[in-house]
Amino acid sequence: MDCIFCQIVAGKIPTEIIYHDEDAVAFRDIHPVAPTHIIIIPKEHIPSLAHLSEEQLPLMGHMINIANQLAKKEGISERGYRLVINCGKGGGQVVPHLHMHLLGGRKISDELG
Ligand code: AMP
Ligand code: ZN
Repeated sequence: MDCIFCQIVAGKIPTEIIYHDEDAVAFRDIHPVAPTHIIIIPKEHIPSLAHLSEEQLPLMGHMINIANQLAKKEGISERGYRLVINCGKGGGQVVPHLHMHLLGGRKISDELG
C-alpha cells in the first residue's frame, strides 16, 4: 500500500487524527496554508473526484458535514471558510486519494488558480 492517506487511515504514519468515524477521517495538513487547514478523506481509497461513482455520492455530503462541524469547532464558521477538492494533476491534486481541504482563519480570497 503506497498511498500516503491510506497509510494514515491504517495508522502507519503517525498523524493526529482530529475526527474519525466509520467512513471518514480528518487531520491537519502537514503544510498548512491557513491557520485552519484540515484534510478530510474517505477511509476508502478513491483516487479522485473523477473516480467517484453515483453510489459514493452520499460520502461527499458526509464529508461536507464533517467539514462544517470542524469549522464550528475551529471557531471559523461565522467568519467563513473554504472547502477545496483538487481533481487530477491539472486540478492541482498531488495526493491521489480523494480529499477535501478545509481552509479558514484568514481572509481567503483570490486563490482560484
Ligand atoms: P492536494 O494538492 O489537493 O493533493 O493536497 C494534498 C495535501 O496533503 C497537501 O496540502 C499536503 O500538504 C498534504 N499532505 C501530504 N502528506 C501529508 C501528511 N502526511 N499529513 C498531512 N498532510 C499531508
Ligand atoms: Zn489511498
